[in-house]
Amino acid sequence: MLLTNNLGYPRVGAFRELKKANEAYWAKKISAEELLQAGLKIREGNWKTQKEAGIDLIPSNDFSFYDQVLDLSLTVGAIPARYSSLLNKIDRQYNLDLYFAMARGFQEEGVDVTAMEMTKWFDTNYHYLVPEFTKDQAFKLTSEKFLNEYNEAKSLGIETKPVLIGPITYLLIGKEKEEGFNRIDLIDRLLPVYEEILAKLADAGAQYVQIDEPFLALDIDDVTRALYGQVFDKLAAAAKGIKLIVATYFEALRDNEETAVNLPVHALHLDLVRGENQLDTVLTKVPASLTLSLGVVEGRNIWKNDYEKSLVKIKQAVDALGADRVWVAPSSSLLHVPFDLDNEDNEESLPAEVKNWLAFAKQKLAEVKDLAVLADGEVDAETAERFEANKAAAESRRTSPLIHRPEVKERTANITDDDATRTSPFSARKEAQQAKFNLPAFATTTIGSFPQTKDVRKWRADLKKGTITQEQYDKEIAEETERTIRLQEELDIDVLVHGEFERNDMVEYFGEQLAGYAFTKNGWVQSYGSRCVKPPIIYGDVYRPADMTVRWSAYAQSLTNRPVKGMLTGPVTILQWSFVRNDQPRSTTTYQIALAILDEVQALEKAGIKIIQIDEPAIREGLPLRKADQQDYLNWAVRAFRVSSSNVEDDTQIHTHMCYSEFNDIIEDIAAMDADVITIETSRSQMELLDAFAGDFKYPNDIGPGVYDIHSPRVPSTEEMVHLLRKAKAVVPAEQLWVNPDCGLKTRAWPETKAALESMVEAAKILRAE
Ligand code: GLN
Ligand code: ZN
Repeated sequence: MLLTNNLGYPRVGAFRELKKANEAYWAKKISAEELLQAGLKIREGNWKTQKEAGIDLIPSNDFSFYDQVLDLSLTVGAIPARYSSLLNKIDRQYNLDLYFAMARGFQEEGVDVTAMEMTKWFDTNYHYLVPEFTKDQAFKLTSEKFLNEYNEAKSLGIETKPVLIGPITYLLIGKEKEEGFNRIDLIDRLLPVYEEILAKLADAGAQYVQIDEPFLALDIDDVTRALYGQVFDKLAAAAKGIKLIVATYFEALRDNEETAVNLPVHALHLDLVRGENQLDTVLTKVPASLTLSLGVVEGRNIWKNDYEKSLVKIKQAVDALGADRVWVAPSSSLLHVPFDLDNEDNEESLPAEVKNWLAFAKQKLAEVKDLAVLADGEVDAETAERFEANKAAAESRRTSPLIHRPEVKERTANITDDDATRTSPFSARKEAQQAKFNLPAFATTTIGSFPQTKDVRKWRADLKKGTITQEQYDKEIAEETERTIRLQEELDIDVLVHGEFERNDMVEYFGEQLAGYAFTKNGWVQSYGSRCVKPPIIYGDVYRPADMTVRWSAYAQSLTNRPVKGMLTGPVTILQWSFVRNDQPRSTTTYQIALAILDEVQALEKAGIKIIQIDEPAIREGLPLRKADQQDYLNWAVRAFRVSSSNVEDDTQIHTHMCYSEFNDIIEDIAAMDADVITIETSRSQMELLDAFAGDFKYPNDIGPGVYDIHSPRVPSTEEMVHLLRKAKAVVPAEQLWVNPDCGLKTRAWPETKAALESMVEAAKILRAE
C-alpha cells in the first residue's frame, strides 16, 4: 500500500481563529494562556482532520503563531542583540513577548526596538522574518517547540512527523548583519543544535522527521552541493532510528538531482507540479535505499487534481520502485491554500460549476488518499465513484462557456508595441507634469490606504449582511474619505490619496469587479503574521464590464485643490495574488488583466484624475526561482505593466509601488516599466535597497524610497527619517526623490499614523531647506 504524506497544513484556522487570537493578545484583551489555548485548538483540529483523511505521515511543528522561520531562529537561539533586554521575558514554552517583539517591534516600558526584516518566502506571497547573523554568531537550543508539539499530538493519540527547515536553507534565507564572513560558514556552529533536536525527537519516539531543503531545487554552486552531502551525513548519524525525509519544492531538482537522490536519507520529496517532468530523470538515478514522495497534488493552487494525469506519474514510479517505496503527497506545504471548500456556499460569488473545479487544503488531503488507493489497484466503490466525478470535472473545465470568451482572446492577441509605449520620453513627460502639478522638491505622498479601522470593516460587513443599505454605507465611506482628505491637507501632504476605505483588499476588490473571476467567503491564506489575504480565483477570460474605482477617486478629487492619486493594482500583482488558471500560460492571463486595467486608467484620466498609481508589489515575487527562466518572465511582466499604463497623456503621471523587493538584478527591467514615479520599501533595510537604483545603472525616473516601516506600530522620529533621506540623497539626485512611507497604512491605527506622517512631512521640509 502506498503511504500518504503531507508536508504542512494551513494554521490560521478555517475562520482565521489564530489571527483573531493574536490580535486580541497584542491588544492585551486576552492572556498568554488564552492565546496558547487558541493555538492548541488549531493544531488539534488540523491533526484530526489529517488523520481522518487517511494521511499516514502527518506533520507537526508546521504550526506557528507568526512565522515558522522566526520559530526556528528562536529554536536555535539566533536572537539579535537588540532584543537582549527582552530575554528575561522568555517563558519556557513559547517566549511570546520576545517572539512578537522580534516579529513586530516593541515600544513599551522604556524599551524601543525595531522588528526583524521581512521578505517573501521564495516565490510565494508568504512572508518570513529574515534570520540575522553576525560574525561570531553562536547557536544554542533555546526553544523546544518542535518537541512540545510532537508530544502534544502524541498525547492526542496521533503520531506525527516533525517538520524542520533544513540547516542549509535556514542559513541561505538569512542575512549577514556585518561584513567579513559568509553566513553559510556558520554551518558547523549550527549543526550541533540540529543534532540535539534530532536526539530529543528520537528519545521522544519520533519515527520520521521532515527536513525542508527547497534550495535543492534552486540554483546553487558546487560548494553548496557538496555541503549538502556533508551536512546530511552528520544529520543521518545523529538521527538514531529516525527516518529522515528531505523535502524539496517550488521547482525541479534539475542540476541538483544527483546530489539530492544520494543524500543518506530515507525519503526524498519531489514537487511534480512545478517540476512536472523531473520524474523521468530522477527515476534513473534513485538508489535502492531511497523512497520517493511524489508531490502530485498542487500545494499552491486551488484546482482539483487531474487524477488520470497524476496516476500516470504514480504508476511510473511504482513500476520502477515498487509500491512500498512510493508515497503520494501534495507538491508543497498546504500553507498556501485555503482551509476547506465546504465552507463556501455563496452561489453568487462562487457558482456551483466553478466550485466543482476546486479543491482546498482539506479536499487535497482526500485527493492524496484517493490517488494512493487508485494507484494501489484495490479500489472500493466509493473511490471509483470519486474517480468518475473527477474525470467529469476535468472535462467540464475544458469545455465550459463560462471560461472561454472569444472577444477577449482576440483583443489580447492583437496587442502591439505601440500599445506598450508612452508617447514621449520621461524627460518630456516630467516637464509637462511639473507644469501641471508644480510640486515642491521632496514631494510627499502616501502609498494609498489609510487605517482600516474596526468601523470601516464593520460597515463593509454590515453591508454584506444587509443590516445597512448601500446608501448608508456610501455615506460612511464618503465621510471617512473626506476626513482623510482634510487630514492630509492639514498635514500638508502634497499628493493626496482617497484612503481606499471601500476596499477589502487590493486584489480582491478588483477581482470582484472583473469578469472571469470567482471569489470565496473564507478562502483565507496567510500572508505574514496575523495578516491573511483571500485571493480571488481567475477561472476564465478576464475583462472589465464597468468602472471600478472612478467614483471614489473622483469624489476625493472634488473635495480638494491638491492632486489626488488614483489607485489601481497592476496586472502582474493581480495575477500573482490570485489563484490563477493552469489551462493557459500566465502571460496570456496577465495581458487580459492589463487591458482591463488600461480601460480603468483611461476612465480615471477622463474623470480628471491625472496622477494614477498602479501598484506592482508582486513583480519581484513572480520571478521564476531559476535564473534560466527569469528573463522571459520579466519581458512579459514589464510589457503587461506598460500595456496597462502607456496609452495616456504626457501630463498624466503614472506611479507604481513595490514593497519588500530586492531590485539589484532586475533594476533595468524595473526601469523599463517606465513609470514616472516608483515608490519602494527601503526603511527596514536602512535604505540599503536603494543602492540598486544608483549602482552602475542609474535609475532614470523619479523614486520615493519609503522612509518608515508601516508594518510596525512604532512611531519613527523626524530625525530618523531625515537621516534616511540624507542617505537617499547621497545616492540619488535630490530632484528625483519623493518622500513617502514604505507601504499602505491600512494595518495601522490612526494615532500612530498621524504622528508618523506629521514627522514625515517635517522631515521632507528639513530636506527641502538644506
Ligand atoms: N495601495 C496599496 C495600499 O496602500 C498598496 C499595498 C501594497 O503595496 N501591498 O494599501
Ligand atoms: Zn507596499
